[in-house]
Amino acid sequence: MSDQHSTHGAHGFETLAIHAGQEADPQTGAVVTPIYQVSTFKQDGVGGLRGGYEYSRSANPTRTALEENLAALDGGRRGLAFASGLAAEDTLLRTVTKPGDHIVIPNDAYGGTFRLFSKVLSRWGVEWSVADTHHAEQVRAAIRPNTKVVWVETPSNPLLGIADISALAHIAHEAGAILVVDNTFASPYLQQPLALGADVVVYSTTKYMGGHSDVVGGALVTDDAALGEELAYHQNAIGGVAGPFDAWLVMRGIKTLGVRMDRHSSNAARVAEFLQSHPKVAQVLYPGLPEHPGHEIAAKQMRAFGGMVSFRHKDGEEAAVQVCNRARLFTLGESLGGVESLIEHPGRMTHASAAGSALEVPADLVRLSVGIESIDDLLADLSEALK
Ligand SMILES: *Cc1c(COP(=O)(O)O)cnc(C)c1O
Repeated sequence: MSDQHSTHGAHGFETLAIHAGQEADPQTGAVVTPIYQVSTFKQDGVGGLRGGYEYSRSANPTRTALEENLAALDGGRRGLAFASGLAAEDTLLRTVTKPGDHIVIPNDAYGGTFRLFSKVLSRWGVEWSVADTHHAEQVRAAIRPNTKVVWVETPSNPLLGIADISALAHIAHEAGAILVVDNTFASPYLQQPLALGADVVVYSTTKYMGGHSDVVGGALVTDDAALGEELAYHQNAIGGVAGPFDAWLVMRGIKTLGVRMDRHSSNAARVAEFLQSHPKVAQVLYPGLPEHPGHEIAAKQMRAFGGMVSFRHKDGEEAAVQVCNRARLFTLGESLGGVESLIEHPGRMTHASAAGSALEVPADLVRLSVGIESIDDLLADLSEALK
């Protein structure tokens, strides 16, 4: 595999998104990396591999193109593509922890991430405790002698909390732990965790990276070459890799990531403003609002504030559920980050598995993934749904 830092270092983000890892096909000149839908590769004599390819769990040219692209976008030495965000997280956690180790996890996180810690890893003797990652001092207080990982999601899902990545990197490193940032909500276009001191960046590429609600995938990026090797070893040993077609779809999505994120962010800002002045809305959670408690840190570490907006309904849970049921253009569904707008009730849908835990979400909460449709149509739909 070629050095992922290679020739693109001097280029801007949008150029890297379209070109990094994606030279024209050497055999045919195809401008787009082909889908190498193949499991095994002919060897020129025993052990004579062409370009290092042997078996597609270990490496596949379409996946390699995506992995080099992912590394370039986050400014890391190594990018790895997985079958889902959770497959990426599982591989990471089994690479960097062993029984008896401790992880600090956020009090606001994707429900599936919490389930992985609380229901799966805990059975293998990995301890975890919850800290309010939006207050760096509370993370410091949660650290134990056996803490190996500090995990943070910023902006967080679904409460849109903001954590100070450089402060947390400092605290984690002082304790001899690594900082992992789930950058799914921001994408590398809006936020660059490695440059802020994080050790590993995690993505559900299902969301903004894919961007079209047509693929499930995950990724890890690190600038630590040795850790990158260990992660690649476990990626192959555990086997939760991205298939060639899925890798191709994510790559196709990434080419327009920058323009999509700009529009997601400007549409979401308008939606947040609209909700703020609506009489049925008790609170709007959007880091772009000056009164959001994390606004200043978000402004410091993000290029724009992203496409996710949550709000609390004044009339409580049933009213919040009714808004979700009544929206038309905002499609009722889980997931996020696609070009189309989605609406959901986290308490009963994406975050149902956090019920009764420190990560339980308010029952009157509605989460919006603001798409890139015409903004006037989106506002009209919300206005109707809130009536
Ligand atoms: C969706 C999501 C995940 C999990 O990713 P999958 O691709 O669904 O496995 C992890 N973190 C965040 C923030 C997510 O939104």
